[in-house]
Amino acid sequence: MTKIPVGVLGATGMVGQNYIALLNDHPWFEVRYAAASPRSAGKKYRDAVAGRWQLAKAYAPHVGEITVEDANDVGRAAAAFKRGDCSFVFSALEMGRDAVKALEEAYAAAGIPVISNASAHRWTPDVPVLIAEVNPHHADIIPMQRKARGWDRGFIAVKPNCSIQGYMAPLYALAKAGYQAERLIVSTLQAVSGAGYPGVASMDIIDNVVPYIGGEEEKSEKEPLKIFGAVENGLIQNAALPKISAHCNRVPVTDGHTACISLEFGARKPGSIEEIKKIWTGFKALPQELDLPTAPVQAIIYREENDRPQPRKDRDADKAMAVVIGRLRPCNVFDIRFTALSHNTVRGAAGGGILNAELLRHKGYLQ
Ligand code: NAP
Repeated sequence: MTKIPVGVLGATGMVGQNYIALLNDHPWFEVRYAAASPRSAGKKYRDAVAGRWQLAKAYAPHVGEITVEDANDVGRAAAAFKRGDCSFVFSALEMGRDAVKALEEAYAAAGIPVISNASAHRWTPDVPVLIAEVNPHHADIIPMQRKARGWDRGFIAVKPNCSIQGYMAPLYALAKAGYQAERLIVSTLQAVSGAGYPGVASMDIIDNVVPYIGGEEEKSEKEPLKIFGAVENGLIQNAALPKISAHCNRVPVTDGHTACISLEFGARKPGSIEEIKKIWTGFKALPQELDLPTAPVQAIIYREENDRPQPRKDRDADKAMAVVIGRLRPCNVFDIRFTALSHNTVRGAAGGGILNAELLRHKGYLQ
């Protein structure tokens, strides 16, 4: 099969590097275009990341030879599209919110679909915030988005904040079984790679916990409502529940966001802890049914040990795409409590973006 040529915007950053590494031997997509800030533009990719490549896995030799473009120059990407070097882009840009918003729209207007990790468009009502296992049907807003914006081929689809990944599929699995979470309190322990590179200063985080991550609690409380929402008249209407209270903390872990959750169900409650574990371990969704290349075989893994999940031991489960849960027990205040873990730069960023692209290709939105 001829691979689809793709571009990565923000290719030199923490998430961009993960895209480059994960796409090394992807069966459907091949990186042929890379863009970043004007600081990196004009350099070969290998020179642009020299001294700041963060991953154990290397980039493919052909990517090292790609000349990095200025991501602000949409014309360069449009020319690459015409040459057949960039059919769509993954966006992993970190710059001002308004700038990212406008830039991603410019790419879509130029006919280049944008699969984004940035938060800029997560609140745009006609832009789907996709978790492939949870709301794949939201992708079907794309024809309406195109029509409303006058875009023929381009569109924007985004993925949510990395800190909510660990518990969205588990909540969805329970809701699907008839057990709707109504109130939820979550405390997160978030890895430093979540702040990009170079990210948090070592003097701030070594031997320390920082009980504040700008904007993260608001995102954690709002984004699940859009993901659980319904598509009506070309817009996504947010769900009313669950009501969420979030405490987000930065901890000295390299990769892997942990979330400690207490939740209360509505009137219908699961009969037992064992029933919940069965719902989670038996959960299969569209990516598993379609056997998409980046989909974890089992989207939710439950660990019985008292001291799991742990970032170092569990973040790489099933290509770092599974969420790992443990410590499910009754809650003295709400109904249940548990601990969830997901790899923030893979499941929560580049891997999640690639899985979304696989889903969108399956649905016929990426040719
Ligand atoms: P990062 O390591 O700081 O990388 C930022 C990227 O954006 C770099 O490639 C950088 O290029 C480029 N960039 C910066 N300023 C630019 C400008 N003015 N014009 C064009 N490009 C510019 O950030 P990151 O952690 O990879 O995050 C990327 C995006 O993913 C952000 O929107 C973030 O919120 C989101 N995200 C991150 C995570 C995570 O776990 N890290 C998870 C989910 C979502 P240079 O290298 O040339 O400066």
